[in-house]
Amino acid sequence: MASIPFHIPSIPKPQDTYNFLIDNSNSLFLHPSLPKSPDGLGRPIHPAEAYDPVSFAHYPLPASLGPIKPPLMESTPFKLVDDVAGLHYLATKLALAPEFAVDLEHNGYRSFQGLTCLMQISTRSEDFVVDTLKVRASVGEFLGKFFLDPSKKKVMHGAINDIIWLQRDFGIYVVNLFDTMQASRVMRLERNSLAFLLKYFCGVDANKEYQCSDWRLRPLPSDMVKYAREDTHYLLYIHDVMRKELVSGSKQLGFEDPLGEVCKRSHEVCLRMYKKEVFDKETSYLFMHGLGDADNLDAKQLAIVAGLFEWRDRVAREEDESTGYILPNKQLLEIAKKKPLKARELLDLVGYSRTLVLRDVDQIVEILWAAICVHAPNFEKVAKDLNSGVPISEIGAKIQETKKMDQEHEKKMAFIDHQQESEASKRKVFGPTWRPIGPAHSPMLWVVRPMFAPSVSPA
Ligand code: AMP
Ligand code: MN
Ligand code: ZN
Repeated sequence: MASIPFHIPSIPKPQDTYNFLIDNSNSLFLHPSLPKSPDGLGRPIHPAEAYDPVSFAHYPLPASLGPIKPPLMESTPFKLVDDVAGLHYLATKLALAPEFAVDLEHNGYRSFQGLTCLMQISTRSEDFVVDTLKVRASVGEFLGKFFLDPSKKKVMHGAINDIIWLQRDFGIYVVNLFDTMQASRVMRLERNSLAFLLKYFCGVDANKEYQCSDWRLRPLPSDMVKYAREDTHYLLYIHDVMRKELVSGSKQLGFEDPLGEVCKRSHEVCLRMYKKEVFDKETSYLFMHGLGDADNLDAKQLAIVAGLFEWRDRVAREEDESTGYILPNKQLLEIAKKKPLKARELLDLVGYSRTLVLRDVDQIVEILWAAICVHAPNFEKVAKDLNSGVPISEIGAKIQETKKMDQEHEKKMAFIDHQQESEASKRKVFGPTWRPIGPAHSPMLWVVRPMFAPSVSPA
């Protein structure tokens, strides 16, 4: 079968097909199912925090039992789980399993936060592929408890992203992980990819052709199912072999307790918390990929970047699309450099297949004009700093600091206004309520701030 492209535009968006509840608002992800710290900060407490990772080295199966060979894929029972009955069946299997292997396939291109498309699970004797688009709303309810169960070992490879996707899409938190990539590092193997481990430990030539496919495709072609199964089918065996070598090879590895080290590193992976992207009008554009490499943007060009960046973030959240789908950074920078000030010129530059640019083209042209004619002066300082090599994080921090001072200043002024008002009302005289302009070097103000509060002339 020919390989499946990274993006198949004709696939209906699953978030529409299945009515996903998605919160793209510019607010923190609150991890609603987790208890919060009692210190008043309300920090979500990860369930794994309660455990000493080294205790997970004491695995139910004694290392002396030796690695358990995986059954042949062809003779392994397989189930595609795409309904609640299937989830229930899978749950009965996981309830009995002391360990299981997990992997996820993901699509980050056609949604703002990303969508988990598949969850592969292998026990010692069976493979499952869960259609997490179709049963998304029930995955956490049926499977979450097994991921939380400290007595069940979860084996994953390079779980750093998977951990975050599980939290975001299903409210699943992982306790007791063995990450074979972390093990591979501790063991100082030549390479740390799953493809390498499959070859090295199992003699299997993995077909990585589908790694970057559009995993939203349904029905899943049999080759993609086979690929997905391969990602977890051998993992428990690989874990067994690695664990054995970690226990026996202590001296060569340069760690006092190599297995404990893998448990600790895997635990750190579990503790990572999903954070939704926060958009900040004044600074977010500075951290755009590629901005640092773009040569000497002037104030007008930076104002365009910031304006487009704000438009793009808003549309991405509203339409539930990735910013890269709406307008890739490279094209955004092209626009800033070339300053196309007519709809036609703009569309010729980015191409007519950028459907949301096409939809909003008049608005975008207005943003460009406003950037050049109104806002550019606010970007002189940033442009100067950027082009003289001041690190972006430093520029961002300075702007934040100024913003904070601005806000405090406004608060103070509002307080003085309030005092004056109440004083005035006591005396039954209405004094002038205008106040001076804010700090001279306000970084950028898209909305032109009124210079004076509406004044009331004395009666
Ligand atoms: P894996 O951990 O290899 O199963 O990959 C999980 C998901 O990460 C895939 O479904 C892709 O969405 C994404 N991914 C993995 N490798 C790549 C890559 N080289 N380029 C882009 N996306 C990738
Ligand atoms: Mn993976
Ligand atoms: Zn995978």
